Order: sequence, then C-alpha cells, then structure tokens
Amino acid sequence: MIIDAHTHLFSDEQINKRDLLIRNDENFNSIYSSPDAKMANVEDLLESMYQAKIDMSIIMGFQWKEKSHYDSHAKYLISQQQNYPDKLISFVPLYINNFNEIKMKIEDMHKAGVKGFGEIRIDNEIKEKTLLDKILPELFHVINMFDMKINFHTSEPVGHYYPGKENGLTLSSIWKIINSFDFDIIASHFGAGIPIYQFMPFVKKKIQESKMHFDTAAFSLLYDSRILELAIESFGSKKFFWGSDFPLINQSTDLILMNKLNITQKSRNDLLGNNLIHYLNLS
Ligand SMILES: [Zn+2]
Repeated sequence: MIIDAHTHLFSDEQINKRDLLIRNDENFNSIYSSPDAKMANVEDLLESMYQAKIDMSIIMGFQWKEKSHYDSHAKYLISQQQNYPDKLISFVPLYINNFNEIKMKIEDMHKAGVKGFGEIRIDNEIKEKTLLDKILPELFHVINMFDMKINFHTSEPVGHYYPGKENGLTLSSIWKIINSFDFDIIASHFGAGIPIYQFMPFVKKKIQESKMHFDTAAFSLLYDSRILELAIESFGSKKFFWGSDFPLINQSTDLILMNKLNITQKSRNDLLGNNLIHYLNLS
C-alpha cells in the first residue's frame, strides 16, 4: 500500500478567489502571491494518485492568518474524506494561537472523523517559549485524549530561501521537543534536517527514543537523497513517512526518486505506506 503523508488541497471556491485571498490573508499572500505556487483541488489529486498508483493520501490545509478561513477549509477536507474514504485521510488546519479554544475545536474535529491536524505553521507573533511551555503541552494533552496526530512545517536554519520556508518549527524547537517534552509530532520536510545530527551520539540516541516522526515533503528541493538512505540506516525505517508536498512536487516523479533509494525493500515498504498504516491505525 502506497500512502502519501503530505498533500495540500483547496476548495474550488478558494481556488476561484485566489486574488481576493492574496489581498485578505497575510499568510496566504506570502506563498500564493507567486503565480508559480500551485493550488490543487480533490480532482487534481485523485488524477495524480491514479497516474502514480498511490492508494491513499493525507490531505492537509493551510495555516491561515485570519481565523475565519479555518472552518470552511476543514469542512472541505472532511467532505472529501467522506466522499473518498478509501483514498483520502484528512488532517485539517488548526488555529493554535488561542489555546483556550483548542479543546472544543479538536473534539469537534474528532467527532467529524478527522485523523489529525496540519500542516501547522507557527505564527510570527508566537514566541518559542510560549509555544513550547504553553501552547504545545495544552495541544498535546487534548490531541492525545482523542488519539489524533499533528503535522508541523519545519524550517531548516541554513540553505536557500524560498516562499514558505519560514514559520516552521525551528531546529532548536525540534531539539527541545525531543530532549525535554517528547510530543508525538510529524515533523515535515525531514525535521528541519535534525536527522543529520545523527553523528552526535547523544542526539542520535534521543531521536531514536523520541516519539517524533519525519516526513519527506519537498525532499528533492532541499536534500541529497543519500542523507535519507543514511538516516533510514541509522534510525531504522519506522521513523520516516514518504510525503510529496503535492501539488508543489509531482507525486509520480517523487515516487521514482523514493524507488531509487538504496534501502531494503522492507524499509521502502515502511517508508511508502506501512508505517502510516500502523501510526494511524488504518487497518
Ligand atoms: Zn511545509
């Protein structure tokens, strides 16, 4: 079974209102004001999955600046999961700035059949200390009650700039989560590169022992694939989920890259879907 852990969908209404949303929402503007930034609806994804022979995809939303966009985006993702329950798994956007409202919202989403939340970006106004000491403990307390999952955007501290690079969990936050908190997080984009620190034995041990998982979204734009081979060899294949970042990345092309990795067939099966079956209790 092949499962893509990281895709993004927008409703037709949102796609049609792109220009308006660029003017109205600062976060949306920061990525989608570029005409190169693709927006996909469910039909685009299903066609891509058919072409690439992908069985299921996690469909995620967008971290809007304006709170008013969250409910309609979640509604679209939930309705598509209901339309295609064998193919789509919804992770809906979650407004994390106000943690007083989080509990009820998470409970509502759980009742609606949502499996998780994502891709969460961290608002510029949230300080790292507030995030780690207040927001995340509260968030995980509730998420764990409902056995749900959460995917965070991550921002690697080095490398080239691209729209959307910022507003992720930083390498230092990821390290603090692993070392001091141990929240069950899917750190997207290879966890801002923290698996590269496997050459520090203390860090390697802490990552191995942690609950953190990593997805490979946009891997081909950021890293040499040899580091993924090495990370799977060092940490075992259980820590990693293949995710494309569709529609930014073509699912078929990305799968070809994953199939070329010099890893065992068992590791490849884990990476491409088996891990998510266990992680999300899909069977
Ligand atoms: Zn991301």
